[in-house]
Amino acid sequence: MLTRSEIRAYLTATGSAQEELFTEARRLRKEHFGPTVILRGVIEITNVCRVNCDYCPMRRDNTRENDRYFMSSDDIVKRARDIREAGIDIVLLQGGETPRNLVTVEDAIPRIRELFDGQVEILLNLGNMRRSQYERLRNLGATSYILKHETSDPHLHEAVRHESLDKRLRCLRDLLNLGYRVGTGLISSLPGQSLESIIDDIELTQTLGVHMCSVAPFVPAPNTPFQVEPAGTNELALNTIAALRLHRPQMLIPSVSALEKTSAGGQSRGLEAGANVMTVNFTGSSDRKRYLIYGKDRYITRKRHVEDLTRASDLHTRGSVFLTSETGTGTPLGAGGERRRVS
Ligand code: SF4
Repeated sequence: MLTRSEIRAYLTATGSAQEELFTEARRLRKEHFGPTVILRGVIEITNVCRVNCDYCPMRRDNTRENDRYFMSSDDIVKRARDIREAGIDIVLLQGGETPRNLVTVEDAIPRIRELFDGQVEILLNLGNMRRSQYERLRNLGATSYILKHETSDPHLHEAVRHESLDKRLRCLRDLLNLGYRVGTGLISSLPGQSLESIIDDIELTQTLGVHMCSVAPFVPAPNTPFQVEPAGTNELALNTIAALRLHRPQMLIPSVSALEKTSAGGQSRGLEAGANVMTVNFTGSSDRKRYLIYGKDRYITRKRHVEDLTRASDLHTRGSVFLTSETGTGTPLGAGGERRRVS
């Protein structure tokens, strides 16, 4: 674990200091995961959201103007079959926060498990829910859950998300207590954010004991209150990824598409900075265009792109670290070696 002053120095590293930081981050990734990148397949199940984040085009205030969609459970299972056929064993179901998701995923989860003979990590990213709802989904076979805290500064959180940080943290603790493998995430260069609060973000991953954490540079998206704010820099996001790897080497840290949107080659740099997860998009083309997470021209990550990047980085793709071959259920993070290679 790093001290606050070490994290501060890493977040501002440039030139040879940054290269040394990235080299150490890659060394630690190799020590804990071998030369591998974990591959996920994502299905974006709805673009409707009850929350009103100032940086997101799918915010509640845009609901009427947006071309809304809800995938049916049949469609979700069909897309999950595409994920299986691509040799990927992590199905990420992601969408805006809306109660309607619950009925759909409750129907889809057992069917997806059956499709994969139980050998699947079902990863959800569907926002805040009541503990009893998380429990129902866990009992149906959900393995893991992403719930990004976005910023750990409680005032900034409330100002930009119009939601309380405490509520979010309560949900994260519920998920951990229920035995989910849990991911959080932060936005770097968020308007109003200080460097000290990014250090808090990094320390929060340890306090909570989460298994995964993403870092996305702020993207000023059209039709949002933040559309005129300056874009975040990839350099700060990359330094944050590397500092996270040094702080908690056993965590899963994705190289997110926002890095590529901010700068061509950004996801490759994410791998250079010690990231070890990539997500391929399996949403159908018409829904994909309506899922406006960074606006209409977001970067869509495809399997070919991931394979090219990983090969160029002397890495290869692999499946879930949270599955055992016998049960298809979670194992302790970092406990196992490679389960199987998926490409
Ligand atoms: S960032 Fe997530 S929670 Fe916030 S408005 Fe967008 S979809 Fe909803």
